[in-house]
Amino acid sequence: MYPPDFTYVKPSSVEEVTKFLDSHDDARPLAGGQSLIPMLKLRVISPSYIVDLNPINSLSYVRSGFNSIRVGALTRYYEILKSDLVRVNAPLLYQAVRVVGDMQVRNLGTIGGSVANADPSADVPTVLTALNAEIVLTSSSGNRSVNALDFFKGAFTTDIRKSEIVSEIVLPNLEGYRTVYKKVVRRAGDFALVSLALAIKLRQNEIEDIKLAYGGVGEKPFRALEVEKNVIGKRLNDDLIEEIVSKVSNQVNPPSDTRGSSWYRKEVMKVITRKVLKEVVS
Ligand SMILES: Cc1cc2nc3c(=O)[nH]c(=O)nc-3n(C[C@H](O)[C@H](O)[C@H](O)COP(=O)(O)OP(=O)(O)OC[C@H]3O[C@@H](n4cnc5c(N)ncnc54)[C@H](O)[C@@H]3O)c2cc1C
Repeated sequence: MYPPDFTYVKPSSVEEVTKFLDSHDDARPLAGGQSLIPMLKLRVISPSYIVDLNPINSLSYVRSGFNSIRVGALTRYYEILKSDLVRVNAPLLYQAVRVVGDMQVRNLGTIGGSVANADPSADVPTVLTALNAEIVLTSSSGNRSVNALDFFKGAFTTDIRKSEIVSEIVLPNLEGYRTVYKKVVRRAGDFALVSLALAIKLRQNEIEDIKLAYGGVGEKPFRALEVEKNVIGKRLNDDLIEEIVSKVSNQVNPPSDTRGSSWYRKEVMKVITRKVLKEVVS
């Protein structure tokens, strides 16, 4: 299928992009094109302008910040995987990006594109939700920063306002945490049926801190905030694991679709939660 006609715009700076978006209602940024091009070809969207972010090198980087890792929106998955900074200080992101799609997708797809697209089964949004990451949005009037918990509003819906682009993702340093990203798929390279992002800090099996989020179980990533709050200071033993498994699965109402029924997703959620928590204690 061919995409509908559009005007291709090639800006050379973020300022040019935001200025163009300011003055044109019907324009879409293009990053890796892994979601945008299929949406155009399937005629899900038909914008008048496609604004190519790819020439803007200043949007592609991984840097160390104050107790944080800063990743430019145009950084491709494969670049994230090459970064020692990410592997050591943001291991949960590293673990998740390793299982995004296939090599072709990881060679082109960008972190900012995944965040802006907000697919409820995508890997990066679940990790950012688990970690309270900050999404930096840039417009012609400046920057603002939104916590991932407020940024993802629903399926393919975010807090991005007209004329804004995602410019940077800021993740906290995870020193002293054990992290696990678990993704269950029907076929290799698929989006998640259910995924789990866990960062946990234990002192002699007592939970000092825990961050737990799931993908594929609702319209947006689900963060188990209430459960987290109730288990701080408790010993992570079999009884507590069963309590967590039961409570998290009672708090979601997953969709039924071609990947799996709502009931099946809940069962998968229980199984991976139990398995991952048992792994971290052993
Ligand atoms: C075969 C296949 C398998 C895949 N499997 C997975 C998977 O297992 N897990 C997973 O998480 N994802 C998967 N994906 C999706 C992939 O991660 C995409 O790369 C990602 O969703 C979009 O990133 P992109 O850079 O390609 O963005 P694009 O496709 O260029 O853009 C996506 C959307 O975001 C907007 N956008 C892009 N960048 C910005 C920005 N900086 N600011 C504002 N808006 C922006 C665009 O206008 C568009 O609406 C898969 C894709 C394919 C084709």
